[in-house]
Amino acid sequence: MKAISVHTFGGPEVLKLQYLADPRRPESGEVLVRVKAAGVNPYDTYMRAGTYGAKNPILPYIPGSDAAGVVESAGAGVDLKPGDRVYTTGTITGAYAELTLCNRSQVHRLPPGVNFAQGASLYVPYATAYRALFQLAQAKPGETVLVHGASGGVGLAAIQFAVAAGMSVIGTAGSDEGLQAVTREGARAAVNHKSADYRKQILDLTHGSGVEVILEMLANVNLSHDLKMLANRGRIVVIGSRGNVEITPREIMLREASILGVYLWGVPDSEAAQIHAAIQAGLYAKTLRPVIAAEIPLASAPEAHRKVMEPGAHGKIVLIP
Ligand code: NAP
Repeated sequence: MKAISVHTFGGPEVLKLQYLADPRRPESGEVLVRVKAAGVNPYDTYMRAGTYGAKNPILPYIPGSDAAGVVESAGAGVDLKPGDRVYTTGTITGAYAELTLCNRSQVHRLPPGVNFAQGASLYVPYATAYRALFQLAQAKPGETVLVHGASGGVGLAAIQFAVAAGMSVIGTAGSDEGLQAVTREGARAAVNHKSADYRKQILDLTHGSGVEVILEMLANVNLSHDLKMLANRGRIVVIGSRGNVEITPREIMLREASILGVYLWGVPDSEAAQIHAAIQAGLYAKTLRPVIAAEIPLASAPEAHRKVMEPGAHGKIVLIP
């Protein structure tokens, strides 16, 4: 099969297209999936660079956790058959490939009307958004949510979840295309996080009282300012951070505020089951509609890894084998 293989940690150029042996036949409780699309997430780039700490893979490896495709074959005791449309929430052998071997628990049915590119855009973004918004921030209908970095995979997913649950959403982006995507998905306001007065714009949108919840994609840049945009008893969930930041704890005290962190790989099974159920329900109800920014051939995986780390997000980047 064709696959992207990483033999040494480094820049995007270490992603090499190779012809590898197909994965072994699925054993009991396993599923072999023919991949039609693989989602590209920022954490794929940290793993490739060898900077993901405890989660660094053993070399050589095939990157990717989020794929969509059809069942090629299934092991004993598996309630899926060849041809069934599915998406993955992890794999045994890696998603950037024509075939990927998975445990049954990592494979979910793809509802009709959801295409493969969208299926490959589900797990990491939507599960993270759901966990941050509902399981950690415990956001409620009627509350105002600031999605700080709303134009990317997690941000657009968070807008869709929040709007469907009756929240008022303000989203930020750094490009015109990103701002358009934020409003198209239902945010009541889109604000450019590159403009000098954008924090004032956000406070003005709440008539000075601040937002109840902030989902933060770049905490090292924004966390200290976020605290000043927060309502009393407000909650900030740190989703992304690429460095350190200094904050003034008094801002937390004054508001009796909370700062929470999300770590998708640490979600207990019982809460993961809630997440999967919510994603399935939203897909069937069409309140969740993954937005695809670019479909890129598998061979151009290095370009996809460069793009996902560049400014100007407006949806998901997927690889097509
Ligand atoms: P993505 O698709 O690349 O989107 C990145 C987002 O960050 C874009 O909306 C981008 O906006 C925005 N951004 C850029 N500069 C910003 C700034 N100064 N202030 C606020 N936002 C800014 O990435 P993603 O998949 O949505 O993931 C977002 C972050 O969450 C990444 O760092 C990722 O590693 C992390 N993450 C963490 C977990 C976890 O378990 N903790 C899980 C999933 C993702 P523009 O491009 O429009 O400027």
